[in-house]
Amino acid sequence: MAIETLRAVRGMNDILPAEIGLWQRFEAVIRDWLASYGYQEMRTPILEQTGLFKRAIGEVTDIVEKEMYTFVDELNGESFTLRPEGTASCVRAAVEHNLLFNGGKRLWYSGPMFRHERPQKGRYRQFHQIGVEGLGFAGPDIDIEHLSMTARLWRMLGLAAVVTLEINTLGGAESRARHRQKLIDYFEAHQDQLDEDARRRLHTNPLRILDTKNPAMQGLVEAAPKLIAELDETALAHFDSVRRGLDAAGIAYRINARLVRGLDYYNYTVFEWVTDRLGAQGTVCAGGRYDGLVAQLGGKPAPACGFAMGVERLLALLTEMTAAPPATGPDVYVVNVGESAARFAVPVAETLRDAGLKAVLHCGGGSFKAQMKKADASGARYAVIIGDDEAAAGEASVKPLRVEGEQRRVALAALDKIIFQ
Ligand code: ATP
Ligand code: MG
Repeated sequence: MAIETLRAVRGMNDILPAEIGLWQRFEAVIRDWLASYGYQEMRTPILEQTGLFKRAIGEVTDIVEKEMYTFVDELNGESFTLRPEGTASCVRAAVEHNLLFNGGKRLWYSGPMFRHERPQKGRYRQFHQIGVEGLGFAGPDIDIEHLSMTARLWRMLGLAAVVTLEINTLGGAESRARHRQKLIDYFEAHQDQLDEDARRRLHTNPLRILDTKNPAMQGLVEAAPKLIAELDETALAHFDSVRRGLDAAGIAYRINARLVRGLDYYNYTVFEWVTDRLGAQGTVCAGGRYDGLVAQLGGKPAPACGFAMGVERLLALLTEMTAAPPATGPDVYVVNVGESAARFAVPVAETLRDAGLKAVLHCGGGSFKAQMKKADASGARYAVIIGDDEAAAGEASVKPLRVEGEQRRVALAALDKIIFQ
């Protein structure tokens, strides 16, 4: 009877050895970049109480309404959710551990996020984000820092030419309330043009209607009352400072009055970096201010600003933009033929690693010819060859694999010198 083949969960990807180099190089750039701005890494659990996301992201949002992986722990009846994003957890942890006791904190995190969406290019059910949060900063200097640091990252990655910045301001609570009422009046007057989602949201979260992806509603949404008309002086001054900061830093941007973001915690500045190279899933980085969230999650009120990047989308963009990097092999492949050679090969490989070389030790025996084939396929620069002869003499033979060169027999102590040449 055939055994059923098991597959990964739909929309959740394996990252295989052939792809991992790209991830690791990207992550190395990210670490340097964040360190150069003084951000500290933090790691939170992948599972949180469901209530955290409901409270932080908002009940009437796509994420909370239909994208969360939520289950009841049968052992104690608690409801848990696989994190759909990182800001809620980061703020929860900052409040829980009183991280803001002596002022602002610059934090970052990375890792998998989970959303039950329809899988397609650039949209997965497990995807990865790098998130950056400045907690306890009223801005607009921190807003400008976040925008300039993302601009620097695109330069570091060679992506500056293919991403553009869109910004908007959502204002504070009062202007949002005024705008909300105007939106309700406007959409009520055009009930017949609303789709099911929009009708449901009309009285719970009319702002969300502006974020619709339904092409049939674009005209209606385009003509809807603009929040910018409701902004008070403080909000306008904040936005103005952000704009002047961008101008001073030489960062081009477009004001997109329809940019509202899919999470309820945002206020004041919001932004997205978008590309036209990835089809419909063109937002590679998104964020903004969320001044109410810390208090909303039980902390002493503290303003904040942050953003998150979609790693899969950025890697797709990098792959599209750059030639495939050369495959990297180890420095040395240690061939060993014969019983005493196999025993002696173990300390030889260790000696090579002591010297800082990457050494792969051949396992599984086989003829000299078969092992040399493996050595070649591994991409190693050198084969270190050990037969019973070499083992008896406490020596090894070295042969370059990528350039012409003789096989040479040398004492162990001389091995690394040859290879480091
Ligand atoms: P979108 O409008 O594309 O659904 P979003 O507004 O839901 O994005 P955020 O919650 O702001 O996204 O997440 C920040 C970034 O994470 C996005 O800009 C995107 O790059 C990435 N991202 C979000 N959802 C997914 C997903 N399902 N698969 C892959 N990347 C994602
Ligand atoms: Mg989404």
